[in-house]
Amino acid sequence: MHQRRTLEELVTGVAARLMAVDSRTVVEACTAVLRDLVEYLDVDVCFLRRNDEELDATVLVAEWPPRTNVPTPDPLAVVFFRDADPIFAAAKHATEVKIVRPHADDYQRRVKDGSGVDQTSMAAVPLLSGSVTTGVLGFVKHGDREWLVSEINALKAIAAFLAQLQARIAAEDRLRYLAEHDALTGLANRRSLLSELEHRLEPGRPGPVAVLFLDVDRLKVVNDALGHAAGDAYLRAIGGRLEAAFAADLVVRMGGDEFIIVVRAPTTMDGAHQLAKQAQVVAAEPVQLQTEEVSRSVSIGIALGVPGRSSVAELVGFADQSALAAKAQGGNAVVGFTDEMRTRAQERNDIEMHLRSAIHGDELVLYYQPEVDLASGQIIGVEALVRWQHPIRGLLLPDSFIGIAESTNLAGELGRWVLWEACRQMHDWQESLPELSLKLRVNISPAQLISTDFVETVARVLEEYELSGVDLCLEITEHAVIHDLDRVLVTLRGLNELGVHVAIDDFGTGRSSLGQLKQLPVDTLKIDRGFVHNLGNSSDDLAIVKSIISLADSFGLDVVAEGVETVQAAEMLLELGCGNAQGYLFSKPVPPAEVLEILQRGGKVADYPADR
Ligand code: C2E
Ligand code: CA
Ligand code: CA
Repeated sequence: MHQRRTLEELVTGVAARLMAVDSRTVVEACTAVLRDLVEYLDVDVCFLRRNDEELDATVLVAEWPPRTNVPTPDPLAVVFFRDADPIFAAAKHATEVKIVRPHADDYQRRVKDGSGVDQTSMAAVPLLSGSVTTGVLGFVKHGDREWLVSEINALKAIAAFLAQLQARIAAEDRLRYLAEHDALTGLANRRSLLSELEHRLEPGRPGPVAVLFLDVDRLKVVNDALGHAAGDAYLRAIGGRLEAAFAADLVVRMGGDEFIIVVRAPTTMDGAHQLAKQAQVVAAEPVQLQTEEVSRSVSIGIALGVPGRSSVAELVGFADQSALAAKAQGGNAVVGFTDEMRTRAQERNDIEMHLRSAIHGDELVLYYQPEVDLASGQIIGVEALVRWQHPIRGLLLPDSFIGIAESTNLAGELGRWVLWEACRQMHDWQESLPELSLKLRVNISPAQLISTDFVETVARVLEEYELSGVDLCLEITEHAVIHDLDRVLVTLRGLNELGVHVAIDDFGTGRSSLGQLKQLPVDTLKIDRGFVHNLGNSSDDLAIVKSIISLADSFGLDVVAEGVETVQAAEMLLELGCGNAQGYLFSKPVPPAEVLEILQRGGKVADYPADR
């Protein structure tokens, strides 16, 4: 029935079959075409080979019928032109159809080695791309065969289709390669990482999927000392080594000095740790750059993904976060993602998402922590401390959201709310107790301090709530001051004119020089609670507190100690000449109603000083 097809029908059949082929289906489709040709032309073997420029060889693409008992290595699979016999060698540049009739030579011997058949005739039709020979379509007939001109012409047409197909697939492969690989190292890139993980995390696939996030420690030093070309060469060397050592796995360059390894087999945290240790050893081997031998350690974070449950972004993010934690340990460490880190990451996300609406809704509240006169135990001030009454997580302390506010530009909005609310509260207390003498302390974030309309805002809020400047003391950190000293100076002078006091919070933890301190129009130093809570047991702390107090003295500044938890510490402070303090010994931060209670019962905080 095949015989009834015309040659023309044969050619159009082949063309149709090759139309939608891509690199994954090309071998299968070509094999089907060859089978068709074997049947139609009544030959014994048909094969398709392509010329590989890089290898300088002719490579078997497809054949029909499949050979049995193929030796390894297969002498017909890759034939290098340099040691090829004349017939294969001719495939390199052949532009004309070649017909070979039976006679003994090297070619016959090679075919016999590969197929056990002797006495053959063959036809070789070159695949041409322009004037370049890109492969060969070959036919073998045991014994002799004559080839009609019409047959040869049909085969030339088919060879042209195959050449076209090869060119198209090579171009597609190249495009895909470029899209999926990193230009510097030739490793897979972020995009192939994402598609690999998407596939690996599909429901029902085996897991856990282990992701190792590698971050080279201090590569900048190499770049700075030897130049960026050396840094690039270093990354190429590391990338190549990792790829060789983790040949079964996917090694990705994420950009910069970051690599990711996705372990192919399901892997536990313990297993992943072992692999990470191996990766550290591989990556730390020295690389020769110019005349220097360079070696860097790597920090590695590990995260495990569960197919059907983890998302790609989450898995990569967790691995990244673990790598940061490894770096934070000083480098050369391996850190696995923990449930605790997961909870923290989720909280952070959630806080980031809801903080803005919390500020503008009514979820923020202020607590107030009394500050006392150490000698009398009388309340002399309160510090406003913000809390977030979170609908799900309960009452959140500022440490869990102030940092996020500052990194997302919400610090200004949050700070404005705190200032207005604290002053409103102060106004309330003054209304209830006309004789009240109480200082209100409010914490100010760096973003507020450098904003150009800050002084104006403070002036407006004082006016709105009928407060005088001396009722208010703003607390800033050394850290905020050093950032933009000139701008801060302008702000501080403005506050000074309003009569508003300024305290340096957490004093002793920063690095501000005395010289800088001298220029700053501030009124108070607040001794950081880190030096206070262990006062009496630590001679270091004692020395620091002593010198802060004498420093304050010599600049004519007030001094307040925070974090006083023991009577011992309170007494020692008094002795050293620090008269004002704040701490759990006197009172924790409390809601405004409790402050009113303290004030109404005469301003004495609970049980201090102990009855003498
Ligand atoms: P801070 O300004 O140093 O505030 C004092 C912190 O020490 C408060 O923590 C307070 O509860 C705690 N504390 C007080 N006495 C003791 C004690 O005896 N022992 C111990 N261990 N801790 C004590 P809180 O309320 O969690 O505030 C933490 C930090 O958050 C504050 O440190 C401040 O830097 C920041 N913050 C709080 N409210 C605001 C705000 O409204 N704006 C800005 N920018 N920052 C704020
Ligand atoms: Ca403070
Ligand atoms: Ca403080």
